[in-house]
Amino acid sequence: MTNTLSHPTIKNGWFSEVSNTMWPGQAMNLKVDQILHVEKSKYQDVLVFKSTDYGNVLVLDGVIQVTERDEFAYQEMITHLAMNSHPNPKGLVIGGGDGGVLREILKHETVEEAHLCDIDDAVIKASKKYLPGLSKSYDDPKVHVHIGDGFEFLKKYRNTFDVIITDSSDPEGPAESLFQEPYFKLLSGALTEKGVMTTQGECIWLHMPLIKKVVDDCRKVFPTVDYAYCTIPTYPSGQIGFMVCSKNPSANLKKPLRSVDPEKERKLYKYYNQEIHEASFVLPTFARNALE
Ligand code: SAM
Repeated sequence: MTNTLSHPTIKNGWFSEVSNTMWPGQAMNLKVDQILHVEKSKYQDVLVFKSTDYGNVLVLDGVIQVTERDEFAYQEMITHLAMNSHPNPKGLVIGGGDGGVLREILKHETVEEAHLCDIDDAVIKASKKYLPGLSKSYDDPKVHVHIGDGFEFLKKYRNTFDVIITDSSDPEGPAESLFQEPYFKLLSGALTEKGVMTTQGECIWLHMPLIKKVVDDCRKVFPTVDYAYCTIPTYPSGQIGFMVCSKNPSANLKKPLRSVDPEKERKLYKYYNQEIHEASFVLPTFARNALE
C-alpha cells in the first residue's frame, strides 16, 4: 500500500466483511491494492478502497455496497424489474447514493425527471470522486438530488411517482425504517395509481425470516407482491433479492411490459434481459415454500 490510510476492516492487505451480524460465521474478503478514502460521516463509516481484482469498492459500516466489477448486476435488476413493469415510468430512487440506479433509470426514454434521496451526502461525494462509472448521471439535467431520510422525504408526496426504487443499505443502521410496513404504506401513497416499487430484498440463503416478514408486510399494503433475485459475487452468499410490488391488482410483474429489440438490449444492459426478468422470479423450493 502506498499511503498512510488505515481501516479496522483491512489487515495484511485484505478487506474482510466480518463486522456484521447479518451473516454470522462467514465473511467476504477482497485483496486491497490501496485505501482511497476513510471517513466517519454523520450517519455511517465510509470506506473506499481499490481492490486488486474488483475495481474500486464502497463500504459502509464495514459492509460492501458496490464494487466496480459486479455492480451492474444489482443496479440493472433493481431498476429494470420495476421500470419495465410500468407502461410509462418516471422514477424516484431512495438511497442509492452511489448513483448506479440513477444511471439505469436514465436509460429509459420515458423518464422526464429522476429524483434521488439519500440520507448521506458523504456517500454521494465519495462516489463522485471514486466511482465515476456509477455516479456519472449526477450531471444529467433530469436528475434532482435531495439529502435526507427517505422515509421523511416520502411523507411529502401523494400520487406522484410511477416507479420508486429503494436502493438501501441493510436494515441494521440508517436504513432500518425502509424495511417495515409503515414505509411500504408511504411508498404506496406516493406512487401513482398503477405504480410499481422495488426494494433491496436481502438474501434467501441468509435472511429468510426477515424476507418473509417483509413480504408479509408488503402483502398488507400492495395487491401484487413478488420476490426476485440475482447473482452477484460480492454480496453475502453471492446473491441478493428484490421485493417487486405493484398497486395494480392485475399486474403480472414477472413479464416485462416493455422491452427493446435484442440488439439494443445487448448494448444497454450487461446483466438484465427479457428472459432473466422472467427467470429471476423463479425461486428454489425452500424459498418458495417459506414465502407461501
Ligand atoms: N446496493 C447496496 C447494497 O445493497 O449493499 C446499497 C447501496 S447504496 C450506497 C445504499 C445507500 O442507502 C447509502 O448511500 C445510504 O446512505 C442510503 N441510506 C441508508 N438509509 C437511508 C435512509 N433512511 N434514507 C435514505 N437513504 C438511506
